[in-house]
Amino acid sequence: MKIGILALQGAIREHRWAIERLGAEATNILDPEDLNGIDGLILPGGESTAIGKLLIRYNLLNPISELGKKGLPIFGTCTGLILLSKNINGSDQPRLNLMDTYVERNAFGRQLASFEADMNIPVLGNEPFHTVFIRAPYIDRVENEAKSLLELDGKILMAEQNNLLAAAFHPELTRDDRVHEYFLKKCKL
Ligand code: GLN
Repeated sequence: MKIGILALQGAIREHRWAIERLGAEATNILDPEDLNGIDGLILPGGESTAIGKLLIRYNLLNPISELGKKGLPIFGTCTGLILLSKNINGSDQPRLNLMDTYVERNAFGRQLASFEADMNIPVLGNEPFHTVFIRAPYIDRVENEAKSLLELDGKILMAEQNNLLAAAFHPELTRDDRVHEYFLKKCKL
């Protein structure tokens, strides 16, 4: 199984290592040809306005969006969650426009801009997952096929919609690979 990792900006290596620990192959995506033959795609964290512009400049925005519509499994962390969303509150920045979610960027305020916490994520089993948030967004609403997988104080922090998975936190910064494992199950379907 070969998983592409969007390599324009952000925590690319950490996702690679997680995928490799799980026994799959990881390949960096820098231009449209790199998308040929991948079984899934990861959109790492970074800065969503910058990555959105680079997606356009590298001719990747439309090809990735089309593949997502056709069912390619795509997993977005943090910035990736923003790029997957159809709605970004108060912003017309470029996006892939795939998930029926409403996203609030930089939503935790200054004090809480970055934090870590153990959270129960039912789809990952009983053991809590150590979540790392870095100037994170959250989803304030899901509709249609989009489903919340983790919610705290009314903020949705992880969601899925068929082939699409989004997390507001950074599972690649821990050694717990259960979120990546959950994503790889979508890639095998
Ligand atoms: N605040 C960033 C954005 O809006 C996301 C931060 C991250 O990916 N860690 O794109």
